[in-house]
Amino acid sequence: MIILDGKQLAQQIKSEIAIEVAEIKAAGGNVPHLAAVLVGDDPASHAYVRNKVNSCYECGFESTLIKKDDSISESELLEIVDDLNQNPDIDGFIVQLPLPKHIREAKVTLAIDHRKDVDGFHPINFGRMAQGMPSYLPATPFGIIQMIERNNIETEGKHCVIIGRSNIVGTPMSILLSRKAYPGNCTVTLTHSRTRDITAELLRADIIIAAIGIPHFVKADMVKESVVIIDVGINRIEDSSRKSGYRLVGDVDFDSVSSKCSYITPVPGGVGPMTVTSLLMNTLKASRKEVYG
Ligand code: NAD
Repeated sequence: MIILDGKQLAQQIKSEIAIEVAEIKAAGGNVPHLAAVLVGDDPASHAYVRNKVNSCYECGFESTLIKKDDSISESELLEIVDDLNQNPDIDGFIVQLPLPKHIREAKVTLAIDHRKDVDGFHPINFGRMAQGMPSYLPATPFGIIQMIERNNIETEGKHCVIIGRSNIVGTPMSILLSRKAYPGNCTVTLTHSRTRDITAELLRADIIIAAIGIPHFVKADMVKESVVIIDVGINRIEDSSRKSGYRLVGDVDFDSVSSKCSYITPVPGGVGPMTVTSLLMNTLKASRKEVYG
């Protein structure tokens, strides 16, 4: 069994990006500039954004953080988005989700100029991805693809079962792994809350991508020997032995399942760190105008 160390791989990719950025700087080129908009005081969102800004710093990117109180109105937020769309110094930006309930997330996502949508959430990027055209891939699926590719994990002809059909993980993963490419060429089954017998589906899987948000959902008796498991879930469970009172676990019961796997990602330290590097890679592409010229 091989543990896919996302933390180490993310560090390696960040070092490669930092070298490229140093070369761009030396040549007097356009240094990638990522902006992040953070609304409210959700501690998890603050931690994610802090991590993104620190990663920009590590890679030599410029970064701008715009923090707003959760009383901000939808129209005020849309104005900020519009300013960022118009600002020629900003190559790409993200609006950290979730947003307060009075703001329609879909409206905000749609307002982001797709050429600066380095999170890859805009329908234009999603549609281009679906058709195999150049696009910004959604950050988490892009990170998973990198992880598979850099570890030379075979995908062609494999049966991949995805659990969860969200627009940011499950559904794009189903498109990427069924495309005619590497990683890809899988036969994909996309399962969700209405799937009749998930265990039967999982038992046929060579590759499982778990993205449901239910701690330890996948147990050892639900998977076959030598399966590859990518655990996307990030769930807090109580842990009185920790100072914080909780710890993070995935959607897979790592302790019981891992011995059956050929590869498995841990939580934390698996897919999470890769999501951030994808954002940096998309921003680098944006600064080079690689996707939209
Ligand atoms: P979501 O929370 O939007 O949706 C959950 C999905 O799971 C739905 O499609 C639903 O149909 C499915 N589901 C729910 N209960 C189910 C059941 N009993 N059986 C089968 N399917 C079921 O999904 P999301 O935003 O993709 O998040 C999923 C998990 O991944 C969460 O834990 C989230 O925190 C985590 N996540 C991690 C990263 C990362 O960078 N590692 C990024 C995004 C999301």
